[in-house]
Amino acid sequence: MNFARAYRLLLGVSTIVLASGTDAQVRREFTAVHMGVPVRMVVHASSEAIAARAARAAFARIAELDDKMSDYRPGSEVRMLSDRPGDWQTVSPDLLAVLVRAEEVSRNSGGAFDVTLGPLVQLWRETRKSRQLPDPDVLSRARSRSGAPMFEIDIEHSSVRLWVPNMRLDLGGIAKGYILQEALNTLRANGIRAALLEAGGDVVVGDPPPGQAGWSVFVAGGDTATLRRAKALSNVAIATSGGSEQFVEIGGVRYSHIIDPRTGLGATGRHIVTVIAEDAALADAAATALSVLGPERAAGFRKKYPQALVSFRTLPEPSR
Ligand code: AMP
Ligand code: MG
Repeated sequence: MNFARAYRLLLGVSTIVLASGTDAQVRREFTAVHMGVPVRMVVHASSEAIAARAARAAFARIAELDDKMSDYRPGSEVRMLSDRPGDWQTVSPDLLAVLVRAEEVSRNSGGAFDVTLGPLVQLWRETRKSRQLPDPDVLSRARSRSGAPMFEIDIEHSSVRLWVPNMRLDLGGIAKGYILQEALNTLRANGIRAALLEAGGDVVVGDPPPGQAGWSVFVAGGDTATLRRAKALSNVAIATSGGSEQFVEIGGVRYSHIIDPRTGLGATGRHIVTVIAEDAALADAAATALSVLGPERAAGFRKKYPQALVSFRTLPEPSR
């Protein structure tokens, strides 16, 4: 994630007054860049002032969490964890919550989702630029610094331990969901019930807009249950992973930006997965996990989350 504060631009603000009189509701929309992507916020409030104050508080919460969880920022809490291998280190309640959820999704996906893959994510960023598969020795060194068993959490003492020098946690597959969920909670604490937040493939919604059954969220494809559900969402999250724009093609093989821990390289499955779940961190992590597992290996994971609605879409083979 690229979190440069300098790029946090307020891109757009629009207002629509929906009703008049004492129950007047305004619909306001705000967009600002955080976590390297535009974050869109739609709120319904009883006044302009309430909408603006709540949005300000929610963006401040996003910036605070962004600072803690960015793997790009050397001073971030998550980066500092990697600097003292072998020691138990106390972490903030936010980082603990994300890591506990990440560990659960990792376990339930048989390691398909794994926040310790940081060194491989880094290596893959270089591969995408150079369009050359990594040298086997370099790959094997990165693999020796990655893997869920080298990372432990002590919930009771809010502590985390990384075992091996130069490990690097990468929260890119879960942090956005957690951050959006927290931003929705901040809006709620500021008197907003009806809201939608969206950032790079992740969406979370509160109560429906006034007079409507739910929020309608565009999903590019998927099964009928998901498409129908996405037309009227409330108090739920929806995440999509495996999008086509981040693929790289090398030697006739298409690799995703999501790492397959079995190979240490980008996953080669050609699917996009959409997950609807009650919590945005779970939806985000589950979508990343399922895009590695693919429809064939998804059954065990899906059984662990019976409330989640999962839909796969397979991309066509590129024409040659
Ligand atoms: P998403 O777009 O939510 O699917 O997350 C993709 C991001 O998650 C990547 O850009 C990496 O930062 C990180 N990531 C890549 N592979 C994995 C994996 N197998 N498990 C967990 N996180 C991953
Ligand atoms: Mg994800």
